[in-house]
Amino acid sequence: MMQRRHFLSAGLAGAAALSWPHLWAQNAPNFGPPTLPNPGFRKFQLGAMELIALNDGAVRRPLGEEFVTNAALTEVKGLLAAQNLPTDYVDIPFNPFVIVSEGKRFLIDTGFADNGPPTAGRLRANLAAAGLQLGDIDHVIISHYHGDHILGLRNRDGSLVYPNAVVHVPAPEHAFWMDDARMNAAPEAMRGAFMAARRSLGDLSGDRLNIFQPGVELAPGIGTVAAFGHTPGMTMVTARSQGQSFMYLADLTNVPALFARNPDWSVTFDMDATQARETRRRVFEQVVRERMLVGGYHFPFPALGTFVAEGGGYQFVPA
Ligand SMILES: [Zn+2]
Repeated sequence: MMQRRHFLSAGLAGAAALSWPHLWAQNAPNFGPPTLPNPGFRKFQLGAMELIALNDGAVRRPLGEEFVTNAALTEVKGLLAAQNLPTDYVDIPFNPFVIVSEGKRFLIDTGFADNGPPTAGRLRANLAAAGLQLGDIDHVIISHYHGDHILGLRNRDGSLVYPNAVVHVPAPEHAFWMDDARMNAAPEAMRGAFMAARRSLGDLSGDRLNIFQPGVELAPGIGTVAAFGHTPGMTMVTARSQGQSFMYLADLTNVPALFARNPDWSVTFDMDATQARETRRRVFEQVVRERMLVGGYHFPFPALGTFVAEGGGYQFVPA
């Protein structure tokens, strides 16, 4: 409960907590802090591009009935035990990526900066460890507007974390969260998520904000793919160079040990579970067929690897 109190004291009225309804709201035993990767960056080559997996931190979440909304807890724990994973909790890391292409640096999703739980906010240090300063980021691409992906655009004092970056956002996601009528009609518990979107993105001026249609290319070799369901406008990012390809999956699937093995299971954070499930099936099939390298925001660090079909689902094979 300490995490919850800390978070609420951040002055955001629980903005990100409200975008993941149950994360800090449990009366559960304390299982200690999550293990954070050290170093918190790892570089890969993708043709002529460089791919850098980065970690902003993680939270350790007691595993309760509500985490998988459509499977029994005993079944969920059984699947974790079968993979020699802890069954009382799940660690949920936050892993942004940087793509370096033709001398430009594209950061994908932002973590929390200093607006999140005490075990997050490591991205700045891990970028530095990878040799990058905040001013070196030319572009930030946002997959969707949940707090763990956007709060890192600004420091708690409101200043921009990446002073030189153009921020690219998916049009349908922006339209959903920036709709005042929808915010006012939303249940009180969701209001904070709408406010977090406004706080992070609301007053970015015209040339600092690029609202794009999912499917467009943002730069040569850097594409976007609609993946609606987890949120109304979630969009993935692809990078292709010299015959090699990478797909940033964002939150297509949370903890792969659960939701890649069982693509039909729904994590509590999926806003439209049915659409999210259809999207998951379609994208898994594509990345396996095209043998794409994949990156997952909530995958175990370095959060990069491939999927292989197994049983009725998929197994994540770390790179
Ligand atoms: Zn997320």
